[in-house]
Amino acid sequence: MAEQKIPYKTYLDESEIPTAWYNMRADMKNKPAPLLNPGTHQPMTAEELGGVFCADLVAQELDNDNRFIAIPEEIQSFYRMYRPSPLVRAYFLEKALGTPAKIYYKFEGNNTSGSHKLNSAIAQAYYAKKQGLKGVTTETGAGQWGTALSMACAYFGLDCKVFMVKVSYEQKPFRREVMRVYGADVTPSPSTTTEIGKKILEAHPGTTGSLGCAISEAVEVAVKSEGYRYVLGSVLNQVLLHQSVIGLEAKAAMDKLGVKPDIIIGCAGGGSNLGGLISPFMGEKLRGEADYRIIAVEPASCPSFTRGVYAYDFCDTGMVCPLAKMYTLGSDFIPSANHAGGLRYHGMSPVLSQLYDDGLMEAVSVEQTKVFEAAEMFARVEGTLPAPESSHAIRVAIDEALKCKETGEEKTILFGLTGTGYFDMVAYEKFHDGQMTDYIPTDEELAKYRANLPKF
Ligand SMILES: *Cc1c(COP(=O)(O)O)cnc(C)c1O
Repeated sequence: MAEQKIPYKTYLDESEIPTAWYNMRADMKNKPAPLLNPGTHQPMTAEELGGVFCADLVAQELDNDNRFIAIPEEIQSFYRMYRPSPLVRAYFLEKALGTPAKIYYKFEGNNTSGSHKLNSAIAQAYYAKKQGLKGVTTETGAGQWGTALSMACAYFGLDCKVFMVKVSYEQKPFRREVMRVYGADVTPSPSTTTEIGKKILEAHPGTTGSLGCAISEAVEVAVKSEGYRYVLGSVLNQVLLHQSVIGLEAKAAMDKLGVKPDIIIGCAGGGSNLGGLISPFMGEKLRGEADYRIIAVEPASCPSFTRGVYAYDFCDTGMVCPLAKMYTLGSDFIPSANHAGGLRYHGMSPVLSQLYDDGLMEAVSVEQTKVFEAAEMFARVEGTLPAPESSHAIRVAIDEALKCKETGEEKTILFGLTGTGYFDMVAYEKFHDGQMTDYIPTDEELAKYRANLPKF
């Protein structure tokens, strides 16, 4: 490695952190479908959305036209605390695989929330503060989003109420404690503090909760509390917009090095990190300036892209949120209990759904034991302990690099390493003890959930 021309890590200067987010929608010929009012089935107006979300974020949600949106100075200065994030050349992984492929990853785990979610949390908290709100409500599954939002709210002095899916609340007590360090109020969901929570508990006593259910509780509290709005950490157009900072930095760093990725890979839960990572590259692709192979990776146990349908669906279990047109498994889909690897949301970002439907990106699903094998190999050779979510992308980056080994092609691969896995040791423990199994839902099961999609 004495002769390496490309450094192991490439950082931009602080002064090169992007000053505007890139809005991919401006370059999409087919725009993502609008959110619909669940009662009237008409597109949600800014006024209607303003009852649930912060005003500036509503404007960003509906903006399909402005290519760049300036990042306010306060957010830029917060970004400077933990950005730019490094672009890493995975020399050690390449060597271990014996591949001629060149592998790069953009590492977003280098902040206390342990993930990319802080990029959007700080933006959402900023606009809530600017609007003079008292606080925000949200849901969290694995806990990274809740942690990121707690950090952002502490920074701006906002109250933060987090509904945490009960199974995670019980399995990850330390995540909850980190949120409380930052002053958040954390409630296991479903809870008896909301009408919808009580209803769900009555219908399913003993349920360990789901993201869809926690969303309904958080929205209910936001709508009923003076001076509160609801915020969401993925799926929405505005979140992909904020996450474009990942891709803009990655592309700027690669441009500096004079390299261009052939393949870009990201894990996909609700689609925010992937949407952010690919945005400037997809922009070039949409404008006909360059071409890239883009691959979304999802769990085989929650296969929204690969086995879902592209249709309007509810974003939550309680059906209080607007309807979104997306690749979905149905809003009451809950991945099997043995699924440990995150990325468990039933739907997918409307922006990515449209791009996928237009054939501009691919999707693959992977089984969790294979994901943890990749995670462990990565940890041992590259040092960083990856989050299970991120490890979906590692799995497919390894698979693509191994294909290059067979064909002798020297492809350049870029993937998103979204976060670290320190709070996921229960999942790693299951893997080590041979208790981790793979569960792939049958067509019959998926058909059952699909039958409950809204019909109109
Ligand atoms: C939340 C999360 C994801 C998945 O969310 P997306 O919106 O699909 O990016 C992936 N990795 C980590 C570490 C996360 O916290």
